[in-house]
Amino acid sequence: MLDVSLVIREEQIDKILSQERPKRIGLEAPDGLLSALVPLAKRIEERYGVETVILLDHTWGTCDLVNFDAKRLGVDLVLNIGHSIGVEKLGRYTYLIDAEYDVDFGQVLEHAAAVIKRKNLEPVGVVTISNHKSYIMEAIHRLQKLGIDARKGEAEGALFDGQVFGCNFHSARNIAKDVNSFIFLGQSRFHAMGVYLATRRPTFMADPFFNEVVDVKPEGDKFERKAILSIYKAKDANTIGIITSLKEGQFFRSQAYKVKSDLESLGRNVVMFSLREITAERLQAIRNVDAFIETACPRVAMDNENFDRPVLSYQQALGLIRLIKGEDLGDIFDYSFWV
Ligand code: SF4
Repeated sequence: MLDVSLVIREEQIDKILSQERPKRIGLEAPDGLLSALVPLAKRIEERYGVETVILLDHTWGTCDLVNFDAKRLGVDLVLNIGHSIGVEKLGRYTYLIDAEYDVDFGQVLEHAAAVIKRKNLEPVGVVTISNHKSYIMEAIHRLQKLGIDARKGEAEGALFDGQVFGCNFHSARNIAKDVNSFIFLGQSRFHAMGVYLATRRPTFMADPFFNEVVDVKPEGDKFERKAILSIYKAKDANTIGIITSLKEGQFFRSQAYKVKSDLESLGRNVVMFSLREITAERLQAIRNVDAFIETACPRVAMDNENFDRPVLSYQQALGLIRLIKGEDLGDIFDYSFWV
């Protein structure tokens, strides 16, 4: 594996601080970047004479905003590092700062192009996450030079074209009918499997770190079977806990109460819960609930092996309601937005 790390685009930070001239700022980042915030905070303090505070809670995505906390902390702005989208600012306080891998996809794209050609899967859609944002056009051009009909899909909302989240596959679904496969640039199986499940197109993860091309269908199919099994297990639950997240970008109260009302009308006993980090340890404190539905992040429910009872995402909950009504389960992944 190559020795590469995320490079924080510090020039963006300089521009914002020079313009805004704050007195105190907050810094947040995914776990892999947190240690890099320590020297960054010192540099910012020395250069701009501002106070800094590093927010140490998990920051999983642009859904992990801290605009409410920023007010209480008395900071003038927050730099959310490593989760960029198509806009620079979210809410009153949060600026999004790019952090990208400085890695070359050249070799792995040659492998990917050979696979696509051999399997006759053109045209191919190209998707990625924010940490490879600058590379997507270059990847498309490289594939085209290798004789592959490659394209990217238009995003919706604040994402850049070709960008996917773990819960947002608009860019892929917008071109799914025009392509016969996808290449996901990066090393996230969850994102690549999400593209496969949301589009039902063969999807290949082009991993530049291990220099391998992975067909995610076998893992995606296994993931789907597990997600469906949880729904069938939850069907036998008498008491169901529904969780609303307290995270700003994962706060979907209306979905939670809609599911509550549907389940109650179908004879289930429902208890409402609310918390920030939904973990197996926290749910273990509640012994008299048979299954949970979380309306926060689909990864919490579907990408977690540790729960001792069924924990369903919102899309799984919709499938559960259909099953209890005696209808077909349907395709629980046939959505562009999974929350
Ligand atoms: S998948 Fe989860 S962590 Fe990622 S953006 Fe969506 S809600 Fe946030």
